[in-house]
Amino acid sequence: MSPPENSGAGNAVDGPAVIPGVPPARPPDDASIAALAELLRQSERIVAFTGAGISTESGVPDFRTPGSPWMQHRPIDFADFLASAEARAEAWRRKFVMDDIYAGAQPSRGHLALKALADRGKLKALITQNIDGLHAASGIPAHQIMELHGNGTYAHCLSCSEPYALATVRHSFEMTGEAPMCACGGFIKSATVSFGQAVPPLVLKRALSESKDCDLFVVIGSSLVVRPASALPQIAHESGATLAILNREPTPLDKLARLNLRADIGALLEPAVRLAFSG
Ligand SMILES: [Zn+2]
Repeated sequence: MSPPENSGAGNAVDGPAVIPGVPPARPPDDASIAALAELLRQSERIVAFTGAGISTESGVPDFRTPGSPWMQHRPIDFADFLASAEARAEAWRRKFVMDDIYAGAQPSRGHLALKALADRGKLKALITQNIDGLHAASGIPAHQIMELHGNGTYAHCLSCSEPYALATVRHSFEMTGEAPMCACGGFIKSATVSFGQAVPPLVLKRALSESKDCDLFVVIGSSLVVRPASALPQIAHESGATLAILNREPTPLDKLARLNLRADIGALLEPAVRLAFSG
């Protein structure tokens, strides 16, 4: 059997990628699109909160969510990374395997729809659990993006913060088979937040503040099972914002939401944003 033609990264704007193990999403109906468009039109201070579901169309597998078919191994905890040279080498081996899987991934229709919201001055902040850098790649200014789980497109030293290009780290790793060390003696790690590692306090503080000060909080492609993701929409709701949840699966906060839409993110968000600004 030959692989599906649309299975790789880089097919973003052509339609949903076929992700092994993930059922195809349902197409949205016109009423869902219209309801979302109306909320977007009425709102002036929108916070978007994105998870893996916005990037599956870009060919980026959902490899962090518990239960994801991509999560075949127990994740390497931050404590293990610090304690063991073997764990550090294994972390880098997995990192480069994943990088090869989604090399060349491009922003999806969902990413581009959020960029259109930002261009209209409606998107106040974008909080993301994703580490793929695709919101920045869509052109949304960096100061509007809060990456709760860091960024997988570069590395840094855990001791002195010296940044390292991934190509440099990979070259060293492939030559020696060992996790590289910084000149200062510190461990070099991908700039992502590992399981067991705290979300950067300043990022979290700002995400909380933005969540308290929006009129619409839209969850996009997150199942809201990983903290602090699960707390932010609730805080926005308690602060008076309207909550909308766009996700393939039910979430624990669905009961708080004005709108719960279950459909493919790109197929929903792109026409909703277009409709919100038409006429
Ligand atoms: Zn260092």
